[in-house]
Amino acid sequence: NAEMDNKSLITDNTNSIKPVNYVILNRSEAIQKARLKLPILSEEQAIMEAINENSVIVIVGTTGSGKTTQVPQFLYEAGYARNGKMIGITEPRRVAAISMSQRVGYEMNLTSHEVSYQIRFEGNTTPDTQIKFMTDGVLLKEIQLDPTLKKYSVIIIDEAHERSIFSDILIGILSRIIPVRLAKGKPLKLIIMSATLRVEDFTENIRLFKNPKPPVLKVEARMFDVTIHYNKRTLEDYLEEAYKKACKIHRQLPEGGILVFLTGQQEVNTLVKKLRRTFPMQKTEAEYEGSKVSAFRKRRCEMKQKRKLTADTTKKIVLPEIKLDDFVSALPDDADMDIAEDAHQDVGNDSDLDLGDDIDEIEGHGLSKHKELEQPMWVLPLYSVLPPDRQQMVFQPPPEGTRLCIVATNVAETSLTIPNVKYVVDSGKVKEKVYDKTTGVSMFHVTWTSQASANQRAGRAGRTAPGHCYRLYSSAVFNDEFQTFSPAEIQQRPIDDIVLIMKSMKLPVINFPFPTPPDYLQIRSSMKRLTILGALKESVVPIKGVPPTKIRRKDIKDLTYITALGKAMAAFPLAPRYGKMLALSHQHSLLPYTVAIVAALTIPEVLLETPVGLQQSVKDTQKQWHNLRLSWAGVGNSRLLGDVMVLLRCIGAAEFQGGDRTWCEKNGLRHKAITEIRKLRRQLTNEINLLIPSCDIALNPKMPPTSDEQALLLRQIVLSGLIDHVARRVDDWEIKDPADKAKWKYAYRTQELEEPVFLPSSSVLRVYMPQWVVYQDIYETHKMFMRNVTVIEPQWLAVFAPELCSFTPPLESPEPCYDETKDLVVCHRSAKFGSGSWELPDVEV
Ligand code: ADP
Ligand code: MG
Repeated sequence: NAEMDNKSLITDNTNSIKPVNYVILNRSEAIQKARLKLPILSEEQAIMEAINENSVIVIVGTTGSGKTTQVPQFLYEAGYARNGKMIGITEPRRVAAISMSQRVGYEMNLTSHEVSYQIRFEGNTTPDTQIKFMTDGVLLKEIQLDPTLKKYSVIIIDEAHERSIFSDILIGILSRIIPVRLAKGKPLKLIIMSATLRVEDFTENIRLFKNPKPPVLKVEARMFDVTIHYNKRTLEDYLEEAYKKACKIHRQLPEGGILVFLTGQQEVNTLVKKLRRTFPMQKTEAEYEGSKVSAFRKRRCEMKQKRKLTADTTKKIVLPEIKLDDFVSALPDDADMDIAEDAHQDVGNDSDLDLGDDIDEIEGHGLSKHKELEQPMWVLPLYSVLPPDRQQMVFQPPPEGTRLCIVATNVAETSLTIPNVKYVVDSGKVKEKVYDKTTGVSMFHVTWTSQASANQRAGRAGRTAPGHCYRLYSSAVFNDEFQTFSPAEIQQRPIDDIVLIMKSMKLPVINFPFPTPPDYLQIRSSMKRLTILGALKESVVPIKGVPPTKIRRKDIKDLTYITALGKAMAAFPLAPRYGKMLALSHQHSLLPYTVAIVAALTIPEVLLETPVGLQQSVKDTQKQWHNLRLSWAGVGNSRLLGDVMVLLRCIGAAEFQGGDRTWCEKNGLRHKAITEIRKLRRQLTNEINLLIPSCDIALNPKMPPTSDEQALLLRQIVLSGLIDHVARRVDDWEIKDPADKAKWKYAYRTQELEEPVFLPSSSVLRVYMPQWVVYQDIYETHKMFMRNVTVIEPQWLAVFAPELCSFTPPLESPEPCYDETKDLVVCHRSAKFGSGSWELPDVEV
């Protein structure tokens, strides 16, 4: 780097000596002072020398040492954003991308035009952007359009220790881009930043970075001692324990912020409310005049008002008339892929299954009615789906005379550092989505976190002074039941979306240099599901002559290729099966409806379990509730079609009421779900319109009710995406022991599971028990239940899943005959479906 060789030196306002070509920033004095306290500042020279001499470096540093906020600034000052090139930083969480771009821009005294962010559906980048924070999914998408990342001089993969799938894949791809850029004489640098010392998966993996091994730079933050206090016993109700502990700290211990770690949004909100009630504030927030907080509040109100206005601008609905082929050919040559930065990514480890109390409900701090009370507590929630302005509140000092208490999910573990925390209360729990690799059944489990995570959490108490960490579990549990490290995400969830994306990027899936390769069986079952969905063709085969018991990764040949449908599916920012529903609905002019269905399927609990306002006796309530659901299902005038059609009707009706809260609640709909669905519909509609401009579907949230024919087509579309989730009713004759009859009530058989699955009480289909259905997924409580069930006709299976059917040769009777209208000889065949060989009605071919 020419600039580094320059011998003339100058000093900047850190008083350190810099080469003359350094870009000098005009930082405020307060910022400069705060920066100088960060441990990473003393490593600036070492870091810059390492990155100038190597293509890849790894920076390991304690959380809060200044990696995310400072390294981009070092690079900027060293000239890495010159000549129209950008510094790119990826984050696994949206929260971090937004909040860090704001913080860095502020510290550098630059605008959001220069330090910008880009996440899946929004961003503020401009042609002048020089530092770009983005989610890892966004960069993966950019690689497809610009395979050597020409716009960047350096890429930072932040929070690499989280081992998010997209970050892992990015590191694999970048390991191949770097030599290409080097050969072109325009080197691209890669900085991998991690909060934990466990970086061998990156540095020792010779398939990733052969020679030289990337140097590891350590940044030791001066940490103060944190005293760990274990509970003697480990009690079940950690929420109650956390409450008690926070109260005790507040009442008995010297001043200092409290940080509580729980598992999800709902728990966080519950504890926030409880603590606010116990230690209410003495004044209303508005009375804390001039405080930043009220400014935030005001802005939020304004934003809300604005959103309301835009939501009202409606456009007449125009149904597009496009065939699948048009759709596929409308895609750019190398399908303009998009990355499924789906709900999964959106919520990080905060489960989106939480019903999430409405934010407004917990917005107001409780107000004390009495004068003589304990010291008020300034209690703030923190989780990843909290709006950014409310997240920012945790960085502000609490109002005078109060104690700060932040109740957080594990976003506060490493991505965000909260100042002045002295006490950590650790539930030791984390919410994980657990998949059964063979059955694909998914469940949210609250489990013990890892020892590494628990230690991270404890460390949050010792940043500015000695602190204390209260673990709500015993040391025996910590030693015996906690894993040492949390496993990489790629080893924990189905990777269908990843396989499809990689296929459409023409990347070798089986021999890809993953930092931690997924299980071969996992890849194979993803490929199988994608083949069933019609996204891939052919299969993975062992190289000839290798005995099946001895197959290794390198003995496998991947013969699969992506189909036109697969490319179309991959173009949507959704799981492949939903992409398929959207791609297919195109040819039937049903996109606006399918968009609504897909949106509804990705938002949990649209229908309330117990409707607000129906609170007489339990029995009455249940009955009324049941009737309400049935009325949604349109009983009487049309046949029951299933839960998905109920969802569609609900959304349609709610939108005709303008999404009115009271109306929603009276009719058993969760108001927040309706507004979230609307948001998602807008985003998806925008996305589709960008993808295929000719399509131009309207942004109107209102839609006319479906005709009978449309409803039928929609059920076929739903089937097309759930073709691997077909279930058949268990009939009386199948039950051998009549005593077992009660046990088999509402039971269905699936192709994959030995055990029966059941229609849940929330399904409208219980009243009619159709023989053939498809379900969205299976969840397990005391039994296995199907979620969102739709009625199908068995003869559709031969059309939508011919690969899963076996057909006999043409039957003799009824005799084959000539059909004039079709100009075809029509004959009949018997058909069977799936591995269970379920008999289907004869098909005409
Ligand atoms: P690391 O990436 O090493 O974990 P960061 O760069 O995120 O560390 O944080 C460095 C410091 O900057 C921390 O003390 C943190 O509290 C502070 N900081 C980060 N974001 C903000 C913000 N939005 N407002 C105030 N301080 C912040
Ligand atoms: Mg960081």
